[in-house]
Amino acid sequence: MTGEKKQGKPRGKAREKVQEECVFCRIVQGKIPSAKILETGSVLAFLDIAPINKGHSLVIPKAHYSGIHDIPEKEFREVAAAVKRVASAVKRATAAEGINVLQANGKAAGQEVMHFHAHVIPRFSGDNSGFKWQKRPYAEGEMQALQGKIRVELK
Ligand code: AMP
Repeated sequence: MTGEKKQGKPRGKAREKVQEECVFCRIVQGKIPSAKILETGSVLAFLDIAPINKGHSLVIPKAHYSGIHDIPEKEFREVAAAVKRVASAVKRATAAEGINVLQANGKAAGQEVMHFHAHVIPRFSGDNSGFKWQKRPYAEGEMQALQGKIRVELK
């Protein structure tokens, strides 16, 4: 059995509990309002309530998955297709100079809402919302060792 199947959609009572507690599930169910911009059979996109820049949008699968490790590939592709459409629409609608697509998995990565979502963020020169990522160099041989480890995991 793959990890994806083990972690898949919660079922029965567990599913009901998640849907009651998850803010994005509640948006999907229409229990709390959202500024929807796109809806397909499996995907919803709406404006982020606290935008980094105006027009900042979120694209989610309607079903609850916590992140990239448990969303099935089919739904991931459907979200990705919607992200592409939303990115183009947001860019045109806001006259953005650039677009960031961001997707966080886990608290350590900055994820606050534990329902898979991709951010589509319009960006403008000098908007002061840039990344403050610290770059760290590899030690001698470390990059190759990690390359090998990741390649093993990909088999
Ligand atoms: P993340 O930190 O990647 O989990 O981002 C969660 C995002 O969800 C944040 O940018 C929030 O502003 C946004 N958010 C939380 N609640 C709502 C809501 N009710 N409607 C729209 N966006 C929301």
